[in-house]
Amino acid sequence: MLPLVALVGRPNVGKSRLFNRIVGRRLAIVEDTPGVTRDRQYAEADHAGRRFRVVDTGGFTPKAEEQLVRAVREQADAAIREADVLVLVVDAEQGLAGADRELAALLRKGGKPVLLAANKVDSTRRAEALDLGELHSLGFDVFPLSAEHGRGVSELLDAAVEELPPRSEEEDAQPEEGPEARPGGPVRLAVVGRPNVGKSTLLNRLLGEERFVAAAMPGTTRDAVEESTRHGGRTFVLVDTAGLRKKRQVTDKVEVFSAQRALRAVERADVVAARHLQHVGYAPLVFVSALEGTRVQRILDLAAELHDQAATRLKTPELNDWVQRTQDEHPAPLWRGYPVRFSYAVQVGVRPISIAIQCNRPQAVDEAYRRFLVNRFRERFQLHVPVRLVLRQKSRSTPRGRGERA
Ligand code: GDP
Repeated sequence: MLPLVALVGRPNVGKSRLFNRIVGRRLAIVEDTPGVTRDRQYAEADHAGRRFRVVDTGGFTPKAEEQLVRAVREQADAAIREADVLVLVVDAEQGLAGADRELAALLRKGGKPVLLAANKVDSTRRAEALDLGELHSLGFDVFPLSAEHGRGVSELLDAAVEELPPRSEEEDAQPEEGPEARPGGPVRLAVVGRPNVGKSTLLNRLLGEERFVAAAMPGTTRDAVEESTRHGGRTFVLVDTAGLRKKRQVTDKVEVFSAQRALRAVERADVVAARHLQHVGYAPLVFVSALEGTRVQRILDLAAELHDQAATRLKTPELNDWVQRTQDEHPAPLWRGYPVRFSYAVQVGVRPISIAIQCNRPQAVDEAYRRFLVNRFRERFQLHVPVRLVLRQKSRSTPRGRGERA
């Protein structure tokens, strides 16, 4: 059996939204009516290379105070019995209710790791305005997040994954990452762009054969088509997409950006398409002419390079050294007169490269400084791939070695 993470909380705090967010599919039913009874929902999920199950311990129907107390007990008992990690979900907008405190007390007695998800913190503004003092008083690590918008959820999952028991034999039998994730492994290259910019022609050049049907009519290529080819001793899987409409599918793939940039050159001038590219300013730019085949092969070399970069594992001392230097040179802005300091940094994942840094006031770090850190990080380690930065609350209690294990 895969390890289990249980979401516990009184009705309407956003458990099923969070569940859906974690499992990535809309499995649990979300009802706007408080206290709608549901069956428990189980689903598999994965994060940072670990697979686990998630359970939404479901709703109870508190008609009377007495029933509420019983329902809360049952929910907590079941979660403690079954799960490896407990996530107590509360509504940070509303603040703590009696049932939250009751659940917290029960969970604390259970002796299993408990993380506190402070839900409905929908924006950085809200996060800054929020007084986490009350939530911290429960004695668990607090993760401000928005199940609705997804912000903060991966920080919660990073911590949850670290609290999971060591990988079982069953899990070990399954590869942590597919062969595509390994440096030197097959490279998936998605080509995206507006219709008619020359995607199919470029793909044909890359393949060296007329395998994609290039048609002059806009919008001919509808669904993603895959073909593989070899270049420089490696396998490339080329994916022709229906264009930027399939955003999610393509943004998952690092290599996409080099092609995207490359395509800019063959695109007719289009301001909107230039705007789409702003957020990938770190991606290499290749000028090509798909028709003439000039430098087209260079795209494959670059894609391979980026593919391997995204799987880089950096040494912790180098990371820590970088963090210290960076904040010494350019400290984060003061927060209400207090310094914001970063301490321990560790890499917690690849593809995308994910870095966790402990901070005394994570919620006080604004987007601009986060971007600055990420840009500096890319510069220092010469990376041209997406980087995910996670800021973690430096725990005030005795650390349980969190971070060192990753
Ligand atoms: P559950 O009873 O704890 O499972 O709560 P639900 O997931 O059914 O959510 C209860 C209500 O809170 C719904 O109306 C959701 O749309 C809303 N909600 C859930 N998460 C968020 C969030 O992150 N931000 C905001 N603003 N609303 C949320």
